[in-house]
Amino acid sequence: TWVLWNDRLVKDGDIQLSKEDRGYQFGDGIYEVIRVYNGSMFTATEHIDRFYESADKIKIVIPYTKDVFHKMVYDLIEANEVTSGQVYIQITRGATPRQHQFPTNTVEAVLTAYTKELQRPVSEMTNGVSVKTVEDIRWLRCDIKSLNLLGSVLAKQEAYEDGCFEALLHRGDSITEGSSTNMYGIKDGVLYTHPATNLILNGITRRVILACCEEIGLPVVEEPMSLASVFLNEEFFMSSTTSEIIPVIMINGRKLGKGLPGDWTQKLQTAFEAKINQAIYA
Ligand code: PLP
Repeated sequence: TWVLWNDRLVKDGDIQLSKEDRGYQFGDGIYEVIRVYNGSMFTATEHIDRFYESADKIKIVIPYTKDVFHKMVYDLIEANEVTSGQVYIQITRGATPRQHQFPTNTVEAVLTAYTKELQRPVSEMTNGVSVKTVEDIRWLRCDIKSLNLLGSVLAKQEAYEDGCFEALLHRGDSITEGSSTNMYGIKDGVLYTHPATNLILNGITRRVILACCEEIGLPVVEEPMSLASVFLNEEFFMSSTTSEIIPVIMINGRKLGKGLPGDWTQKLQTAFEAKINQAIYA
């Protein structure tokens, strides 16, 4: 398979990365994951915009226009003949002798991207999953899609060891998001989700879902949910680029409602799928 290495497509084995790459040593970089359905990128513009925004927030300059970059990623997908899959993209501040402060401008950022085949998580989407609540110990710039994922990794591992699909993160009594997903509750016909502040990543899937809510007539309130009253929700679900919309049917081993995917959640899944199909056949 081919990988993107700066502005070149090279064979996977030919990529050379430095032991002093700041991504490797400091997590000093940012990334993006874009879903590919039927050979074409879903919400590519939104993901590429967020990639540039994340880079800008940590003062990494991407040395390509968005259009050129879009074409580079597209060429990678085409070269690898991806049908249903994803593309992972990251950029780091480059390689220099290890020191915390930024290197001089002459050091070039290091861009890498690769693709993989991936099926939709149909079983989880249909049956729902369990989550475990974990204290959110991440930093205060969760709006940046940073390579520093230690807080997320530790939370996911804790959930995984308890047989759960995802960690439901909370800062004190306030639910933020999942370790790699956004979280939503539905109560009395209203959808609640954390506002897009510095405490969460404003998911691209989240934005599509909020548009779907409008379409199906589900009112949205963007405010943090309370952990103490989480079981008052009739429905609960999570979203991400690769998870799409997955119902949460159990929290800390206790069933939420009837312990089944909810009606609104299923309506949102249908509306979301329609958007995928629109994009594929556009
Ligand atoms: N929140 C976090 C912390 C994430 O890492 C992700 C994605 O990986 C999301 C939310 C969902 O974002 P998106 O829908 O753009 O994939």
